[in-house]
Amino acid sequence: MPLDALAFGAHPDDVELACSGTLIKLASQGYETGVIALTRGELSTRGTSEIRAGEFDRAAKAMRVSVHKMLDIPDGFIEPSRSQKLKVIQEIRTHRPRIVLAPYWEDRHPDHANASILVREAAYLAGLERIETNQDAFRPYRVVFYPCRYEFKPSFIVDISGFHDQKLRAIQAYESQFDHPEKNRFGDQETNISRPEFLEAVITRSKQYGSYIGTAFGEPFLVREPLRLDDPVEFFDSTYGGSLL
Ligand SMILES: [Zn+2]
Repeated sequence: MPLDALAFGAHPDDVELACSGTLIKLASQGYETGVIALTRGELSTRGTSEIRAGEFDRAAKAMRVSVHKMLDIPDGFIEPSRSQKLKVIQEIRTHRPRIVLAPYWEDRHPDHANASILVREAAYLAGLERIETNQDAFRPYRVVFYPCRYEFKPSFIVDISGFHDQKLRAIQAYESQFDHPEKNRFGDQETNISRPEFLEAVITRSKQYGSYIGTAFGEPFLVREPLRLDDPVEFFDSTYGGSLL
């Protein structure tokens, strides 16, 4: 079955942290959603690839996605190469998503920045019939970017109020990575994201973006092209219920 929205992350947990509230909301509206981790996250300080694969499965359940998959691109070495693009093209042609979600291209982690370029270019190339993968060519409507470490001025913010608790459950499925009562079960090395303050910052960020649109929680997104509106009056009326900002 074709997907409505397919989110790519460089590592297991990237999508959960950045835009799982939106995926959960879409699933609750009856859309078919999916998540693909380009790597297995084998370079992370805590946990093993096996542990992270189990966590990825549990997070997918919490996000209520129809499809979840890990590719075998080596962690730390994502690059927009021909072979990696072909892997992503095959996934896009298999799942035929109407929109693709990808990390923002400016980031501290080179995998995030490279995943942004890799997914955007593969989404375009997937529409070219002469790139042969024994599948029908298919191009998604749009690649929509979500932030990792670095922020951007969003093109739009999705109201995820009502889905934030479920988002936290998806994130906390990664017991080995984030703050957990049994800290030493997965190795005692503290990392930037294993501190309790990290999860608090995730919550604060959701509240901050929610405040920009007058809701409790929000997730920001960026598109590169201007968005077309046929009827600005109807758009603002139906989105904001006629209330003045
Ligand atoms: Zn990552």
